[in-house]
Amino acid sequence: MQYVSTRGAAPILGFEDVLLAGLARDGGLYVPQHWPQLSADDIRAMDGAPYHDVAFTVIRPFIDDDAIGDAELRGLLAETYAVFDHPAVTPLRQMDSATWLLELFHGPTLAFKDIALQLLGRLFERILAKRGESVTIVGATSGDTGSAAIEACRNRDNIDIFILHPSGRVSEVQRRQMTTVDASNVHNIAIEGTFDDCQDLVKAMFNDATFRDDLNLSAVNSINWARIVAQTVYYFVAGAALGAPDREMTFVVPTGNFGNVYAGYVAHRMGLPVKRFLVASNRNDILTRFFESGDMSMAPVVPSLSPSMDIQVSSNFERLLFDLLDRHGSALAEAMTDFRASGSLTAGGNLHVLARHLFTGRRRDDAQTLATIRAVHETLGLLIDPHTAVGLGAAAEADGAGKTIVLATAHPAKFPDAVEKATGVRPALPPRLADLFDRPERMSTLPNELAGVQEFVR
Ligand SMILES: *Cc1c(COP(=O)(O)O)cnc(C)c1O
Repeated sequence: MQYVSTRGAAPILGFEDVLLAGLARDGGLYVPQHWPQLSADDIRAMDGAPYHDVAFTVIRPFIDDDAIGDAELRGLLAETYAVFDHPAVTPLRQMDSATWLLELFHGPTLAFKDIALQLLGRLFERILAKRGESVTIVGATSGDTGSAAIEACRNRDNIDIFILHPSGRVSEVQRRQMTTVDASNVHNIAIEGTFDDCQDLVKAMFNDATFRDDLNLSAVNSINWARIVAQTVYYFVAGAALGAPDREMTFVVPTGNFGNVYAGYVAHRMGLPVKRFLVASNRNDILTRFFESGDMSMAPVVPSLSPSMDIQVSSNFERLLFDLLDRHGSALAEAMTDFRASGSLTAGGNLHVLARHLFTGRRRDDAQTLATIRAVHETLGLLIDPHTAVGLGAAAEADGAGKTIVLATAHPAKFPDAVEKATGVRPALPPRLADLFDRPERMSTLPNELAGVQEFVR
C-alpha cells in the first residue's frame, strides 16, 4: 500500500515511512492511495472470531508484506490484544432493545486510545529494530493521551519517551497513571505552566532542526495513520456481531479530533454497511455546527466535563475533506490555508451537503451529560463516563437509527468526579489499577523554559 498526503505536495510513502513520519512534509496527513475492499463473506466470518484475527483481516492490506510478514503481524496483534483485560477486547453491552455500548476501555489506561497505541508502540519497536534506528518521542498532554503513550512505549527497545504535563493541572488519577510507570525509558516532566505552554515547548523542540535531528524526535499523536487503522478494527467487530454485512447500523461516536469517527468511515469505505455516523460533541461543537449547517468556524475552547473532547480544530477532519473534495490535494491545501487565516471554512456550504449523507452532528452540554449518567445509573445500576454519556445522550435523540452502537471511550473510574457528581457514587478503579494511589511516583518538575527542557531531554 502506498500513501499520499491530503495536500498533494509531499512524497508518496510506504507504511513504514508513514508510521515514523506522522505528519506529511507539506503539512498534510497521509491517507492510503485506495481503499482495500473486504467481501461480505470476509465480514460474516468476523462474527465470533477472536479480536486479533479480525484485526489481521482489517490491517493486513495496509502494511506491505516486506515491512511485516503474515506470521509476524499475526504474532504482533495477538500479543497486543492479550494485554486487554476482557477476553473479547471490545465487548458489546446491550442497553435497550436497539442500543449497545461498545466498551473500548479495557486497556491498561482505561481509555480507547490504548487500542491504537498498544499496537503503535509494538510497530515502532519492530520497525526501528529492523532499521537499526532509535527515536525520542516527545509529547504534551492534558490527560489521556500521555498515559496511553507511556504505557505503549514502556520498556520498548530503541525508544525513549518524554511526556510534558502542566504541573498541578491534571487530575490525580491521570498524573499517577503517567508517573507510576516504572521503566527506565519513560520520563515525565511536570512543567511549571499551562497545557498550552507544554504544547509550545514541544513545538519549539520540533522546530529546532539540530535538536530534532540529533535526538531523532518523533511523535505518536492522533494524526498517525497507524492509529486510525487500528481503530477501524472494532467497527467491524461490533458490526459483524450485530448482523453485518446483512444489516446496517448507526454508530454514535463522542469525538474531539474526529479520529475515532474517521476510523469508522474507513471501515465503511472498506465494505462495512453503515446507516449513519452520529458525531457527538460537548459544547465545543465545531463539528456539530458543520454537519448541521455547513458552518465550520473556530470558537474559543470552553472546559467541559468531557475534557478529552474539548477541541476546536479537529485535525483528522482533513482526511474526510480530502475525499469530499474528490481527493484534490491542491484544493484541500487552499481550503486549509483559508481556514487557518480566516477561522472559518468558506467551502463548507457545498461540502456539508455531501457529508450529510453519512454524518449527523449532535451536541450535549454538561447538564445533559450529568442527566444521562444519572439516568443510566438509576435504570441499569451502571456507571458510565462523561464522554460515553455525551454519545449515549446523542443516541437517545436520534429517531429511525435502527440498531445503534455507542462507542464507550473511557472507564468511569477515569473521570470519578463527574460520575460522583451525577450519581453520588464514586466509581472504583478496576483491579489492575487498584493500588494506583500506593505506587511511588517518578517525575521531574522544570520551569517553563525551552533551554532547560532541551538540556534535560538531551
Ligand atoms: C481522545 C478521547 C476522545 C476523542 O477522540 P477523538 O479521536 O479525538 O475524536 C473521546 N473520549 C475519550 C475518553 C478520549 O480519551
